[in-house]
Amino acid sequence: MVGGITGTDMPKWSDIKHFKPEDFDDHYGVNKGEDINLDLVGRLDSLREWIACPIIVTAGYDSKGHSEMSYHYKGLAADIIICTTMDMREQWNYIKIAGFSGIGIYPHWKYKVYSGGFHLDLRDIPQLWRQMPDGKYVYFLP
Ligand SMILES: [Zn+2]
Repeated sequence: MVGGITGTDMPKWSDIKHFKPEDFDDHYGVNKGEDINLDLVGRLDSLREWIACPIIVTAGYDSKGHSEMSYHYKGLAADIIICTTMDMREQWNYIKIAGFSGIGIYPHWKYKVYSGGFHLDLRDIPQLWRQMPDGKYVYFLP
């Protein structure tokens, strides 16, 4: 990723305050959450700090269940729901400065009483998309 963190600037699990490796474990038991990209986790940790509400990771370093070539399979993506009364526009103010290059907006995702989730990843070429009520996607960057 352009401007991504490498080498000694890469966070370590001991630097991460709000997430544990198992939060990112593969739902199918193949990939281990501890091996997920720590630049991704560090950005989520910063987001969690700024937004000051719990963030539920509904998918992390998965091995299947996502689109073909998904960044979840590379340990470079997380799906989240923020446990807040803020609407998605207010959440966006935090999401947009957290440094993710791929952002998917999923208004229908639900966790307990909370609705509206985001897919966040660290892809090389930025993209922003939204899932529409009919399940189709709208991509905002050409
Ligand atoms: Zn995702």
